[in-house]
Amino acid sequence: MSLFKGGKKLQMKLDDNDIVEKLNHKSDFDSRYWITAEDIFLLCNLFDLCIFASIMSIVCQFVGSWPLRLLLGIQALSLRDCSSFRNTTAVSLLRLRRSSSAKVLSLLHVTCYSTCSGIEYCSSSKRRSRGPVMAAKGKSEGEKQEDGKYKHTIDLPRTAFGLRANSVVREPEIQRLWDENQVFKRVAGRNTGGSFVLHDGPPYANGDLHMGHALNKILKDIINRYKLLQNFQVHYVPGWDCHGLPIELKGKFLQSMDQDARKELTPLKLRAKAAKFAKSTVKNQMTAFKRYGIWGDWDHPYLTLDPEYEAAQIEVFAKWPCKGISTEAGNQFIGVPHLELPLPRLNWRLVSAPTSCTVLDDFIANLGLAIWTTTPWTIPANAAVAVNSKLQYAVVEVDSNSVDINASSVDKEKRLGNVLKEHAKLHLVVALDLVPTLEAKWGVKLIVKTTLTGAELENCRYVHPIESRECPVVIGGDYITTESGTGLVHTAPGHGQEDYVTGLKYGLPVLSPVDDEGIFTEEAGQFSGLDVLGNGNIAVIECLDKNSSMIMVEPYKHKYPYDWRTKKPTIFRATEQWFASVEGFRNAAMDSISQVTWTPPQAQNRISAMTSSRSDWCISRQRTWGVPIPVFYHVESKEPLMNEETIDHIKSIISQKGSDAWWYMKVEELLPEKYRNEASNYVKGTDTMDVWFDSGSSWAAVLAKRNGLTYPADLYLEGTDQHRGWFQSSLLTSIATNGDEVGYFVTLYTNVSGKAPYYGVITHGFVLDERGFKMSKSLGNVVDPRTVIEGGKDQKDSFGADVLRLWVSSVDYTGDVLIGPKVLRQMSDIYRKLRGTLRFLLGNLHDWKADYDVPYTELPMIDQYALFQLESVVKNIKESYDNYQFFKIFQIIQRFVVVDLSNFYLDVAKDRLYVGGNTSPTRRSCQTVLAAHLLSIVRVIAPILPHLAEDVWQNLPFPFTAEDGHTANFVFESRWPVLNERHLAFPEEEVNFWGTILEVYLRASDVGLVSRLVDMCASENDADTLHRIFLTSQVEILPSLENVSEDDIPCTGEYLMENNNKVWIGVSRANGLKCERCWNFSLQVSTYDDHPSLCGRCHSVVSQPIPALAAAS
Ligand SMILES: [Zn+2]
Repeated sequence: MSLFKGGKKLQMKLDDNDIVEKLNHKSDFDSRYWITAEDIFLLCNLFDLCIFASIMSIVCQFVGSWPLRLLLGIQALSLRDCSSFRNTTAVSLLRLRRSSSAKVLSLLHVTCYSTCSGIEYCSSSKRRSRGPVMAAKGKSEGEKQEDGKYKHTIDLPRTAFGLRANSVVREPEIQRLWDENQVFKRVAGRNTGGSFVLHDGPPYANGDLHMGHALNKILKDIINRYKLLQNFQVHYVPGWDCHGLPIELKGKFLQSMDQDARKELTPLKLRAKAAKFAKSTVKNQMTAFKRYGIWGDWDHPYLTLDPEYEAAQIEVFAKWPCKGISTEAGNQFIGVPHLELPLPRLNWRLVSAPTSCTVLDDFIANLGLAIWTTTPWTIPANAAVAVNSKLQYAVVEVDSNSVDINASSVDKEKRLGNVLKEHAKLHLVVALDLVPTLEAKWGVKLIVKTTLTGAELENCRYVHPIESRECPVVIGGDYITTESGTGLVHTAPGHGQEDYVTGLKYGLPVLSPVDDEGIFTEEAGQFSGLDVLGNGNIAVIECLDKNSSMIMVEPYKHKYPYDWRTKKPTIFRATEQWFASVEGFRNAAMDSISQVTWTPPQAQNRISAMTSSRSDWCISRQRTWGVPIPVFYHVESKEPLMNEETIDHIKSIISQKGSDAWWYMKVEELLPEKYRNEASNYVKGTDTMDVWFDSGSSWAAVLAKRNGLTYPADLYLEGTDQHRGWFQSSLLTSIATNGDEVGYFVTLYTNVSGKAPYYGVITHGFVLDERGFKMSKSLGNVVDPRTVIEGGKDQKDSFGADVLRLWVSSVDYTGDVLIGPKVLRQMSDIYRKLRGTLRFLLGNLHDWKADYDVPYTELPMIDQYALFQLESVVKNIKESYDNYQFFKIFQIIQRFVVVDLSNFYLDVAKDRLYVGGNTSPTRRSCQTVLAAHLLSIVRVIAPILPHLAEDVWQNLPFPFTAEDGHTANFVFESRWPVLNERHLAFPEEEVNFWGTILEVYLRASDVGLVSRLVDMCASENDADTLHRIFLTSQVEILPSLENVSEDDIPCTGEYLMENNNKVWIGVSRANGLKCERCWNFSLQVSTYDDHPSLCGRCHSVVSQPIPALAAAS
């Protein structure tokens, strides 16, 4: 067994109130020599060992005014052993913080960051030696005069960089600094590495921003800023989606208006109000985005309401394959105000049957089809009666003797129709199964005369009961059952989805004589002007009864679907719609999907599935606030007029005057010269385009039009819901108008054919609260980005934009992400520690000049090792940026900068930095390493934490000259740190040694390692000596424990490692006396006549002439 014996002295900064409290009750010892339980953890962290709580209790009871000594007994512990329990460390540490009696596993020092995994929010606080600082501070606070005797020889950190972020004030200051110096524009313009275009998906301009917006824009900004550092010419044009119904409604002006005021509101007035609202929302959202620290071309954003944008959109519309866009009937909801409706059962006279159907021959003279409907107002639009081919139908004779003509007097609402009273031998076709039900319902006896299948009824013809046109019997779908009604279904393709589909199959006319307000149009003839659900409905029933086409009417509580917006019942009405066919280029779209890089990769499956299954795209909307579909209709024939010439003419008008022109200009002005004489024969179409067509055209309106941008873009980045939305609409418009499998009106982009508008697509999830619930006002769990940044009303808990950005970097955005007060406090904590580390680096470089750089070969091993670690970290961070895996960067930074660097290298460095003498080679070599760390860390965190990085940069105590020779006045002028292969080439065996020295890696059998450690105890290079690395006064390696007296070592503990390896650590008093200057214990103290209170090292430092700089402190 090998054994270390170390003498150690510890001074703590006691910011743990409990311990301070405890110490205040013990006046008989010097609190500066006290060790806390946390320090024991920290020591264990340093040595990377398992420790039992028992050792803690021993040390915690250890009271005295003498320095703690540390003895380490170590048995075989290999690096592999350590790595095998790495995964448990974070968990254990968390447990430890709650209960000191828990078994403790230490934090582990990971030497190779590419292997590190797992997020560790709980970092150990730094409680290591800070002797000289405290000594100096003690002096400045007027304590014992002697303590300050050598104060002026100590180099304390010095910087104006604040410990507190003060983000409410400082971040806007930094943003102004960037603006005034046009940093983004200048750097992007000067970079030479080619262009990088992330195309912004336009948020909807109708309200305040929420956390989803923040996540989206910050992710984009991290990427853009990273690319900027990578020497790319970054072009980012933010956009807004400004048209559509929600904005039309959102202005509140529309809903709150009464009927008269609404009539006053002409389309142009409404459009002006909507535009005003959208523009003011854009302004507000822009201010918020800028406050997040988002860089972009804010002076020239793209708005879908801009005339040039609208013109480009018209162009995309024009280029859609000729046959692709067509008018067809589709179904649409309109809101109507009534609920209760009569329910009639009707019969319609059959006039002919196909020759194959002879079974009806005997009855055809007076045979009716009995149908049932809840929507009598749709009868004028009837085009067929549908039957189920598999059902059995019966021809029944109504037994006229059984008709109770007084039935109506019993129930005023329920009455029999004239037809039952008039026809002596009325025959009706009904479903066989329903005969008994109908007998009961109608109160008449029905005699079954014959039966036939639904299939036999197909192509029989009947006369429409109102309009006397002939209509067919058709085979409907499985929706026709014998559960209710008569088994025969009135079919009006203009008023129902199923009917519409049936109508398509049989080529039935799509009739829909109802307008937007639910009023019969002139097409409805005698019913024109009547409200379909009011008097119109009643008029239809009366008309039917008069025509002997009604069997019975009874009241019925109708279950209409409600319109979510107006909260009113809705009816179906078919309107002429414009459809963009997807069929012609679906394969091209699918091909292009496979060419795109999707992040995460499974996104490809989602968009593939959605694209392969999507039906034709209905691109018309019966709204006012949008881009018009540039079509004219012939007044008489209703034929649309739309061709390359007409569209081109309208496009040029819109590009100058905006789409309002469509509403205020006359037809003859909107038509090209050639058609002007015929202008009186045409009217303008009133439909606008689906807003997805607006935003889906952004590649044409922005990417293909603006200088510096490229089509396709390098990247699109939006929420996962955009697979169905913007990703897809952009893809379809791009493929449809540039693909070479279909014909066009025009082909503008000859160099591109059928490409997706993006090379890469990143999707992110939704933002949920800390417990994984959707945020909602009613749950009170909404986290507002503005409140996070600026705090509540009194600016309490203002975290600043950087903490919000740090959170964005910390989450795996490919799934749903969580945020809440707890998460934000963790982020704030990490931010604070990171800031502290950077401040330490800045402070210790206050007297640094680039000339002082110590050549690599002259650096102590510990410094070379530190540079190797830094270089590895930077390399891994770059890889993670390139793969858009920011959470890995967060983990690396958190572990390396916040935990490891502070706990080891910087901690060990303090001795050299503060008391090593300000011109000593070891201080200079340490500063060489610190400068490398500062310059690398500040640049690699800059994309995520730009304000912090710039704050550091503005406080750099030395100018930074970039590789190309220019001075970087701003952090983003500095470019990404150049990979230093030499630093990475630190020999592997040395990496292992230095990595494992932190883990007290030692094999009992490995004589070579033991002897190397023995050598290090007396290293000529003061920086590499073992006692400095362990922050002990002395390190002694003993061959065994046999000669160790328990009395000499009051604090001992044995730790069981994995594989039953034992580690023994003891802490005892160091030999010699305390050096007044550096507080290390040394046998040399009291041996110098001129400076009796100093150790050998300090004696040599103070014996040298003192530079003015140090003296000034
Ligand atoms: Zn000393």
